[in-house]
Amino acid sequence: MKTMTCRELGGPCGEALSAETWPDMVRRMTDHVIANHPDTAKEMETMHNDDPEKWGKEMRPKWESTPEN
Ligand SMILES: [Zn+2]
Repeated sequence: MKTMTCRELGGPCGEALSAETWPDMVRRMTDHVIANHPDTAKEMETMHNDDPEKWGKEMRPKWESTPEN
């Protein structure tokens, strides 16, 4: 299990999100952003339409370097 904050994943708040795997974390962050930050969700959608790999490429190394807890 790893824990990262919304902010570490490019979001605007400090809420901690935990997941077992990277795809799971992506889902959690996506749900969290849609539920709490509609403006950020829109920005991420635009970014995704522009380059579907961009967010993952930027955020995945942070996931990899986060220690298991
Ligand atoms: Zn947040």
